[in-house]
Amino acid sequence: MDLLRSLNGQIALVTGADSGIGKGVAIAMAHAGAKVVINHVDAHEVAQQTVDEIKANGDEAYAIHADVSNEEDVQAMFAETYARYGTVDILVNNAGLQRDSKFVDMTLEQWNTVININLTGQFLCSREATKEFIRRGVVEGRSKAAGKILCMSSVHQVIPWAGHVNYAASKGGIDMLMKSMAQELAPHKIRVAGICPGAIQTPINKPAWDTPEALSKLLTLIPYSRIGEPEDIAKLAVWLASDEADYITGTSVFIDGGMTLYPGFADNG
Ligand code: NAD
Repeated sequence: MDLLRSLNGQIALVTGADSGIGKGVAIAMAHAGAKVVINHVDAHEVAQQTVDEIKANGDEAYAIHADVSNEEDVQAMFAETYARYGTVDILVNNAGLQRDSKFVDMTLEQWNTVININLTGQFLCSREATKEFIRRGVVEGRSKAAGKILCMSSVHQVIPWAGHVNYAASKGGIDMLMKSMAQELAPHKIRVAGICPGAIQTPINKPAWDTPEALSKLLTLIPYSRIGEPEDIAKLAVWLASDEADYITGTSVFIDGGMTLYPGFADNG
């Protein structure tokens, strides 16, 4: 199996690609031969750094600002993608955030912010990408599929998370969004798959790893005894988007160092 240049000639749009996992996925997809749209909602300069890093490797990328929870922004981002690169082959629904609170104190704003960005954002971007995949269909020599959608979920798609009910609900919702889209879109040769990371070292969960005490507490939840890196997720995303994974649709891959193995039961429960 050769993943090197496995996405040659394809266009990938990665949401939230100026930080953490999204940045890692964008760099890896560019390295695999895709032209990559770096979606960002924060400062342009930060996204441009990712673009510059990709271009310094001799690959191609372009930054587009859009809030994934805003329908007009999302439609304008896809229009700009087509103006720049002509089409899209791969969508990585990665953008996401946390607004943590005890359940009883959680405000409607905290709930809505997380659901709107983490879940509705994936709906809006997937719908736009799907229109183009169906319009264009399979292109001989490009990919066996008409399009690929990767949904960044989390182990919290299945592990309940006290103090984070908005986040866990958004990730549980992504699972059924992903599966239902996969069922509906398979006849169009569109593949949809989920990625469920465990603890990955990024800004979203900095308090969980940035002191030795926090890290050692976190490691009690990870049988494989190391925190994940964005590159771990990036390699999986490239493979799932490539024709090497052409028979995969409607399922999630957990990539978590064993976090979903009920580590509390390792010592007889
Ligand atoms: P991160 O904070 O480094 O990256 C999140 C990205 O999403 C940032 O680029 C941010 O600007 C972007 N974003 C936020 N709101 C947005 C909006 N409205 N429109 C567009 N972009 C927006 O965190 P990360 O860990 O890289 O998270 C990426 C994804 O991975 C998220 O969906 C997160 O839930 C998921 N995830 C992360 C972990 C982990 O341990 N780091 C574990 C499981 C799942």
